Amino acid sequence: MQPILKSSKLLNVCYDIRGPVLARAKQMEDEGHRIIKLNIGNPQPFGFDAPEELILDVIHNLPAASGYCDSKGLFAARKAVMHYSQQKHIKGVTLEDIYIGNGVSELIVMSMNALLNNGDEVLVPAPDYPLWTAAVSLSGGTARHYRCDEESGWMPDLDDMRGKIGPNTRAIVVINPNNPTGALYPESILKEIVEIARQHQLIIYADEIYDKVLYDGAKHTSIAALADDVMVVTFNGLSKNYRACGYRAGWMILSGEKRHAQDYIEGLNMLASMRLCANVPAQFAIQTALGGYQSIDDLVAPGGRLARQRDMAWEMLTAIPGVSCVKPQGALYLFPRLDPKIYPIADDQQFILELLLEEKVLLVQGSGFNWSQPDHFRVVFLPHEEDLKEALTRITRFLETYRRR
Ligand code: PLP
Repeated sequence: MQPILKSSKLLNVCYDIRGPVLARAKQMEDEGHRIIKLNIGNPQPFGFDAPEELILDVIHNLPAASGYCDSKGLFAARKAVMHYSQQKHIKGVTLEDIYIGNGVSELIVMSMNALLNNGDEVLVPAPDYPLWTAAVSLSGGTARHYRCDEESGWMPDLDDMRGKIGPNTRAIVVINPNNPTGALYPESILKEIVEIARQHQLIIYADEIYDKVLYDGAKHTSIAALADDVMVVTFNGLSKNYRACGYRAGWMILSGEKRHAQDYIEGLNMLASMRLCANVPAQFAIQTALGGYQSIDDLVAPGGRLARQRDMAWEMLTAIPGVSCVKPQGALYLFPRLDPKIYPIADDQQFILELLLEEKVLLVQGSGFNWSQPDHFRVVFLPHEEDLKEALTRITRFLETYRRR
C-alpha cells in the first residue's frame, strides 16, 4: 500500500512542548512511574483553580449556550473585552475589532493564515513561544528570529530586529510578558518597536496573555496603547490570568491604523466564519472574569503562592554551579542557561530525555523555543512547593553527575 504521508505544509512546522520527550514521559507513567512535570503552563492541575465565580457563571449559562453564536463571539464577551482594552488605554476599539477564539492559539494561527503568502517573512523573537514560529511556517511564511538578549534581561535586540527586515517582511511578533524568559518590556523598548513598525509599515502582533501575571509590583503596558498610527493585533484570554486554560477562551483586538487593512480584515472575517464560532459556554466566563475578578493578584503579590514558587525555583537553580538565570518579572517560567564549558551539551533534547529517564523530571529543552544553542531549558514553576523543591533537588543531582562525566 502507498504510505500516507503528512502534508508538505508541515515540513517546517515544529511544536516540541508536546513533542517526543512528553510521549516518553507518558509511556513511563503508564509503566507506573511518577513524573514531576515542569513542562507545561497549565495551572489547574497544580491546584490553581479558576475563580469560582467564573465556573458558576458558565454552569448558570449552559442551557443558553448550546447554539452557535456570532463568528466573532458573544456580544457581552466582546463588550467586556472592549472595556478591558479601554482600561489598557488602547484607543478606538469597537466591537467589530474584537474576535473571540478557542484560546489565543486558534487566533494566532488564524491571524497568520489570513496574512501570509509563500515567501513572506515575520519577525519572531528567539526564544519564542513556538506556536508563533509554527503558525508562520504553516501559513507558508518564514519566521525570521530576532534575538532577545540574556545579558540585558532578555530584552529584544532592536538592532538585530532592524537588521532582519527585508522587502518581504510583513509583521513583528512581540510576546510581553514573555514565554519562556519571563521578561517584561519597559515602555521605552515598546516605543522603539512601534517606531520600527511605523518606518517599515509592519503590523505588530502583541501576545499579552500573561499581562496580569506580574511580580514585584511590576506594571504592564500594552504596546497597542503606544501606537495609534500603526496596526496592532493584541492577543489575550482566560488561560493564564484566570487559570482557565481548558475553557479555550481567548481574544484578539485590532487597533491603530486599519484603513489600509480592509482586505486583510475581510480575510480574518472569512476564516472566523469558516470555523462558525468559538466554544460558546466558555464565552460566558469572559465578562465575569474581566468584570473585576482578579484573584491572580494575590498569587503573584510578594508572599503569594506563585511569587514564592518563583523565588524558590530561581534561588535553587542559580545555586547550581554553572547555571545562571534572569529572574522572571512575569509569566510562569524560568529559562536558565547552562555554561557550555561546564555542561558541553551537543543535543539538548537528548539532555532533557536523560534527565527524564534518570530523575523522572520533565522539562522542555531550549531548542523547543527556537533557541539556537543547546544550552537552555525551561522550568515551569507551577507545581506545589514541595514537588517543585523535589524536582529542583533532582535537577541539581542530575547536573552534578553530568559535571563529573
Ligand atoms: N501565547 C503564549 C505566550 C502562551 O504561553 C500560550 C500558552 O502557553 C498561548 C499563547 C496559548 O494560549 P491559549 O490557551 O489561549 O491558546
